[in-house]
Amino acid sequence: VWEDCLRFIKSQVQEQSYKTWFEPIKPLGLNETTITIQVPSQFFYEYLEEHYVHLLRECVQNELGPEGKLEYSVIVDSGSVQNQPYMVTLPNQNQNQNGKSWGKEVVEPEMVNPFKMPSLDKDSRYSNLNPNYYFDNYIEGDCNRLARSAGIAVAEKPGITSFNPLMIYGGVGLGKTHLVQAIGNKVSEQRKDNFVLYVSSEKFTTQFTDAIRNNSIQSFTNFYLQVDTLIIDDVQFFSGKEKTQEMFFHIFNHLHQNGKQIIMSSDRAPRDLKGLQDRLLSRFKWGLTADLQMPDFETRMAIIMRKMQSDGIYIPDDVVEYLAYSVDTNVRELEGVLISLIAHATLNKTDIDLELAKQTLKNIVHDIESEVGVDYIQKTVGEFFQISVEDLKDKTRKKEIVIARQVSMYLCKEYTNHSLKSIGYHFGGRDHSTVIHAVQSVSDMMDVDSKFSNSIDELKKKMKMKLV
Ligand code: ADP
Ligand code: MG
Repeated sequence: VWEDCLRFIKSQVQEQSYKTWFEPIKPLGLNETTITIQVPSQFFYEYLEEHYVHLLRECVQNELGPEGKLEYSVIVDSGSVQNQPYMVTLPNQNQNQNGKSWGKEVVEPEMVNPFKMPSLDKDSRYSNLNPNYYFDNYIEGDCNRLARSAGIAVAEKPGITSFNPLMIYGGVGLGKTHLVQAIGNKVSEQRKDNFVLYVSSEKFTTQFTDAIRNNSIQSFTNFYLQVDTLIIDDVQFFSGKEKTQEMFFHIFNHLHQNGKQIIMSSDRAPRDLKGLQDRLLSRFKWGLTADLQMPDFETRMAIIMRKMQSDGIYIPDDVVEYLAYSVDTNVRELEGVLISLIAHATLNKTDIDLELAKQTLKNIVHDIESEVGVDYIQKTVGEFFQISVEDLKDKTRKKEIVIARQVSMYLCKEYTNHSLKSIGYHFGGRDHSTVIHAVQSVSDMMDVDSKFSNSIDELKKKMKMKLV
C-alpha cells in the first residue's frame, strides 16, 4: 500500500523533493484505517506536515478511503538521551493538537468562495492572511527599503496616505507576497473593524468566472465592495483577461473613491505590464509604485540568521557566509537551500558544515561554478575593486588597476594550477617575470598594510568557499 502511495507522490512532486522527503520514509505498519510510517526526525515530520499534508492525506485516503489516517513514528535524534521512537498520530479531522497536522488545512490561505458565505457579517469575514508573514521577520535592506517603509506607512493608516494604491513589483521569490501579507496582518491587528482581504489575481479571476457562470455577479461585487483593505497579489495574471480587468476596474474605482486602501503586487513594473488596459494602468500611477530587488550579501546574511533564530537551529558562521554568498538568485531559493541543508544534516545525522553546504548546494543550484579558475578570480577581484575584467587584462598603468591586477595574479598563483607563464598569458599576454613581481609585491604590501591585508583575506575567503 505504501508503495502505491509513493508512486502517487512521485508523480506529484519534483524528483529532488521526492528523494529528500519521501525516500527516507519507512513503512511500519498497516491496518484498515491507519498507515504507520517512520520518519528520521522531528524536523522531518514537521516539514512533511508543513509542506505535504495535502498530498499525504490524499494518497492515504485514496488507499484507505475517507477514514484513512496516517501515523508517524519519529526517530529521536541520536544526540539526545532517549533513543526510542515516539509516535505522533494524525487524525483525519482537525481536532488535533495545536492546530498541527491535517488540521493545518484550515488556516492555509485557501480562499473561501465569498458569495457562498452564509452571511457577510464580521465573523464570517475571511481575510486569507498567513500569520507567518509580518514586518518583523521581513528583513530590511537597500533592496526593499522604500517598499517596506511605504508598506508600514500604509499599514498604519490604510486609505489615508497618498500611497493608494500601493503597487509593489519585483521578480519571483523576492518577497512580494510576504510584504503585502505583512501589511494586511498589521492592518487587521491594529483595526479589528477593518475588513482586510488578500486574494491572488488568479483566485479573483476564478471567482469572477464562476460568478458569471452561476449568475452571481451581484453577490460577487457586493462582497468586494465591502472590503476596506484589498490586497491583490500578482496582477500580471490579469493580462489579456478583458472582462476580469473591467470588473477589477469597477471595484478599484469604487473602493478608491470611498477611501479604501488598495495594495497590489506584480512581477514587473507597470510600464511592462503588457495586456493590461491603459485605464487600469493609469490608476496604478495614482499612488506609489515601489520595487523589490535581490537582497545584497549583508541582507542575505541577516535573512539567514533571522531564519535560524526563528527555527531554533544553529549554523556556523562560515556556512552562513557561504550560503549568503553563493545563492544570489532569490530569497525563496535561499530558503530552499537552507531547508535542504538542515534536512541533509538531520538525515545523515551530521553537523552542518561547509562541506555539507557545498554538497547540498551542488544538488540544488545548477549554475554555480564549482571551480576557482582564472575567470572566476578576475571576476571576483574586479567586483571587489570595482574594476572591469577588461581593465585587468589591459595595459593600463593606473595605480588602482595595477594593484587589482597584481592581486588577481597573486590569487591565480595561490589557487589555480596555472603556470606563471599561463597566468601572464591570461592577463593580456604578460610574461612570467611580471607575474613573479606581482606575487612578490602583493605579499610585501600585505606585510606593511593591514587594511590591504584584510582585503586579501576577504578575497581568499571567497576562493576557499568555492573550493570546499
Ligand atoms: P514573491 O511573492 O515575490 O514570489 P515571497 O513573498 O513568496 O516572494 O518570498 C519568498 C520567500 O522569501 C518567503 O518565504 C519570504 O518569507 C522570504 N523573504 C523574501 N524577502 C524576505 C525578506 N526581506 N526578509 C525575510 N524573508 C524574506
Ligand atoms: Mg508571491
